[in-house]
Amino acid sequence: MSDNIHTNVLIIGSGPAGYTAGVYASRAMLEPILVQGIQPGGQLTITTEVENWPGDTEVQGPDLMIRMESHAREVGTNVIADIILSVDLSKRPFTAIGDSGTTYTADAIILATGAQARWLGLDSEEKFKGFGVSACATCDGFFYRGKDVVVIGGGNTAVEEALFLTKFASKVTVIHRRDELRAEKILQHRLFNNDKIEMLWDHQLEEVYGSDEPLGVEGVRAKNVKTGEITEIPCSGCFIAIGHAPSSELVKDALETHMGGYVVTAPDSTATSIPGVFAAGDLTDHIYRQAVTSAGMGCMAALEAEKFLSELETENAPAKAAE
Ligand SMILES: Cc1cc2nc3c(=O)[nH]c(=O)nc-3n(C[C@H](O)[C@H](O)[C@H](O)COP(=O)(O)OP(=O)(O)OC[C@H]3O[C@@H](n4cnc5c(N)ncnc54)[C@H](O)[C@@H]3O)c2cc1C
Repeated sequence: MSDNIHTNVLIIGSGPAGYTAGVYASRAMLEPILVQGIQPGGQLTITTEVENWPGDTEVQGPDLMIRMESHAREVGTNVIADIILSVDLSKRPFTAIGDSGTTYTADAIILATGAQARWLGLDSEEKFKGFGVSACATCDGFFYRGKDVVVIGGGNTAVEEALFLTKFASKVTVIHRRDELRAEKILQHRLFNNDKIEMLWDHQLEEVYGSDEPLGVEGVRAKNVKTGEITEIPCSGCFIAIGHAPSSELVKDALETHMGGYVVTAPDSTATSIPGVFAAGDLTDHIYRQAVTSAGMGCMAALEAEKFLSELETENAPAKAAE
């Protein structure tokens, strides 16, 4: 049997943005519902050490997300294990249909469905994810102080990651399957002028290899796309930098998006192109993509949702009084 649940604020997503929105919306007495989605806790549940969450010198990603969930529940967020399959943002209350058969209606919606790093799909990449294979230099670069690393890709992401990694690594080899970069010229200029960076053109990653106990990367094998020849590069880290994809499938036809699907929000705000619909975290952020920035945007979204709902109440008050 299907259920219908109405809420003031429906939060879709359970990463740092979603749980922070839950904390703030609960403390504003909005009694929010938060739907967790297929990855309860979001992207940080697939990493190990997080060393840049303020207040924790080091915390395991999954542990941090369990704490965020507990905090949100503790202050009153109704956290529901469900996946939203579709949303109707054309009229208020907004409607969202869950995989469970539940129909959620809401006066305001906070979208916090995040993003996913693009991966190559190699078995060895999967094996060493979080143990030498990473998709985030800002998050993990620090672990490669004085070590050699490789970066896979040729666009802006790859060049930015490579440049960032030179702060820590002794050598950064960028492996690109073409003979020129797609990155902006200014970034290319910085890359080619950096002594720590070496390019391996016309090569694609074939395999990451390493030790099993402890699990760790010892190098990569790259194949020349023209000759088929294999080059082995010993290294401690392999950064896959072929881009990120925002999880905006639910709303891509209803809301304004840009840069390959990131939801557009108003300047200094989480307001989307539809009043009452707010977007926070990696879903809207193609620049910083950090837990702390996502949490910050979750806070903003809840505060803006609260303001939107109280203005709505004021607007509706004269009509109610006249009844
Ligand atoms: C391997 C790795 C390591 C990282 N390390 C760090 C680090 O050390 N420090 C740091 O600051 N950042 C790190 N990041 C980045 C950080 O994880 C993200 O910036 C952050 O998680 C984004 O938070 P978010 O709330 O926007 O979304 P996400 O964490 O992406 O969460 C999205 C949520 O939306 C839910 N969802 C999606 N679709 C639906 C749907 N249809 N219905 C319901 N729910 C849905 C998902 O289930 C998930 O819960 C790392 C990322 C990765 C991949």
